[in-house]
Amino acid sequence: MKTLYIAGNWKMNMSPSQAEIFMQELIATMPAAHDRCEVIVCPPYLALSTVAKQIENTRIMLGAQNCHEQEKGAYTGEISAAMLADIGVKYCIVGHSERRRDFQETDTHIAKKIMALLAKNIRPIWCVGETLEERQTGMTFERIRSQVTTTLDCLKGQDCSSLLIAYEPIWAIGTGLAATPEQAEEVHSHIHHTIASYSIDLPILYGGSVTAENAESLLSREAINGALIGGAALSAQSFNTIINTAHSLIN
Ligand code: PEP
Repeated sequence: MKTLYIAGNWKMNMSPSQAEIFMQELIATMPAAHDRCEVIVCPPYLALSTVAKQIENTRIMLGAQNCHEQEKGAYTGEISAAMLADIGVKYCIVGHSERRRDFQETDTHIAKKIMALLAKNIRPIWCVGETLEERQTGMTFERIRSQVTTTLDCLKGQDCSSLLIAYEPIWAIGTGLAATPEQAEEVHSHIHHTIASYSIDLPILYGGSVTAENAESLLSREAINGALIGGAALSAQSFNTIINTAHSLIN
């Protein structure tokens, strides 16, 4: 029976005090816990400790949006997986397309971050996705295969069973133009097939303009194991509606 993962990526939104108010509302209005629905919030670093305390007696899990691959040292402005683990972070997004674009993160660099997270028992939410140009020129499958295999080749010998993959087509992120359930499922199946040659089977989340309105059509697909949500995770109402949708699909 499938588990659905509903993860909110807040990006660079919400100060600690704003996060506190938001989480009060989210917790107060959240549907009762469901065994097979994992709810994850990924606030900015500065708000992690505040949110960690608020979710102590809830089933919400704490996620970060990035980490450095080294454990400590002269890396000004960076945060390590060890530091995240120390404050109760259980998940961490890696390789988001905004970080690939703005910080030139490569597939091999992302593999190092994944290794650092795995060493601290934090589950990486590893993002892959194609550009609009790649989709329009029929390069989607090749692009995704290259991202997945380059990183997995670097992870040979590691226990990768706790990884989650998020398929996030870049053209769908923040544009209001989500992939259709068919487009998403086709790529998810391609990823499942690609990782099967590494003898692994991982949950694959879809991300890119998921909303309270389109969540059901996406989450009801067999190959889609959850959603990574940006904009719609910044409203307690829409995030909770998506959680409710997930619950209704796994009941
Ligand atoms: C994201 O950036 O991870 C994301 C999915 O954003 P949005 O839902 O706003 O498209």
